[in-house]
Amino acid sequence: MEADMAVTMAHRLKDDGCEIKVVHADNDASTTARLQVEFDNISKKDDQNHVKKGISTSLHNISKSYRELQKDETRQYILRCFMYAIKGGETEDDIKCNLERIVPHVFGSHEKCEDVDWCTYNTNPENFKYKSLPNGKPLTSDGLKEELNSLVRKMISRSESITDLGSTQANESFNQLVSVKAPKARHYGGSCTLQNRLSAAVLQKNEDIVICRKKDMVKEGKTYEQQLELSIQEDPDQGIDIPPPLKLDQTESYVFFDLETTGLGRKSDITQIAALTNGKKFQRYVIPRVEINIEANIPNFKQETLVKHYLGETYLAHNAIEDVKSLHSLYEMKLAHHIKSEDLYAFVYHKCLDSYSDILKSKAVSRLICVRLAKEGISLKHLKLAASRDSNGIKFVFEDHKVPQKSVKAFSECLKDEE
Ligand SMILES: [Zn+2]
Repeated sequence: MEADMAVTMAHRLKDDGCEIKVVHADNDASTTARLQVEFDNISKKDDQNHVKKGISTSLHNISKSYRELQKDETRQYILRCFMYAIKGGETEDDIKCNLERIVPHVFGSHEKCEDVDWCTYNTNPENFKYKSLPNGKPLTSDGLKEELNSLVRKMISRSESITDLGSTQANESFNQLVSVKAPKARHYGGSCTLQNRLSAAVLQKNEDIVICRKKDMVKEGKTYEQQLELSIQEDPDQGIDIPPPLKLDQTESYVFFDLETTGLGRKSDITQIAALTNGKKFQRYVIPRVEINIEANIPNFKQETLVKHYLGETYLAHNAIEDVKSLHSLYEMKLAHHIKSEDLYAFVYHKCLDSYSDILKSKAVSRLICVRLAKEGISLKHLKLAASRDSNGIKFVFEDHKVPQKSVKAFSECLKDEE
């Protein structure tokens, strides 16, 4: 942090009745020095992450000259020993004592390990093995021992600032939240949205409220608002989701179904209904209100022929459940590999397409686009909602569903005319 900024912040906090006694920070000498000039009683403590990083860097540098330290696992183990020693001590003396155990322990002398529970050497010296050192053996190099001892001495000399270590993890996490909403590379400092971006980050941190992108707001309507439930009761549309694009992701279940009917005319009744999904069967016979037409007994040559041809089987056609079973086998064998997301139709396709009938009559928009929207389960009502949620709402929906953008204008104008 810039020294000026740190000083201003500390003054503001003091004016608000919150005086800073201890600053947990990395070793940024100029900031600490400035703070200590302006405030009498401020003391500086190190931050866990920075201490850990510092030790890790030192170990890495030492490993360049000593092969015994070149394994990641060995360095990680020694780093853990240091951090346990530092975090496990309440006073400077504790930490000093803890740090002095490390080097003898990893080099095989355990006299100082007597009253610690992390070293089991003294309870069972014959079978003792190091879990994290190569072959379970202690380190041996004298030069390395001297280097590690000097690192220990360096840490002991700083024992005052490494007791009672703070953590700046929470700050780092907040920084990360802000940087997602206001990336440095975009220079939002020059834009009036910066205030909102920061507020959104604060809300997310303090209240766990996630502010959606405009685009998501268009899709989901209002999700966070005071007394939202009430306003949804008054205007149920506000709570409606605009359907996301239909996509195959290999997690879907297929339902194969078939009907047997009294005839082939539009006024025929259903006599049997059957469906099959994930090995589960469903079938019902229905008593028809009309007589069964002879035509209905005309064999469905197509499916029977296909089944005979591809599966080499004959089956009891015109029994809905048998039809469905063979349909399932045919699908698995011939069709399953060819199914694409473009083949999907929303269940409410016809209803959605009907919703566009008026604006289709006016010829202001193309039927092809309406079909594409209807396939995705998007009706005129959804487009109106999107437009009411954001001035670019329709554009966002079209983008999401990969519908050509050039129709956005025509749709927007149609909706305006309707109002
Ligand atoms: Zn030991």
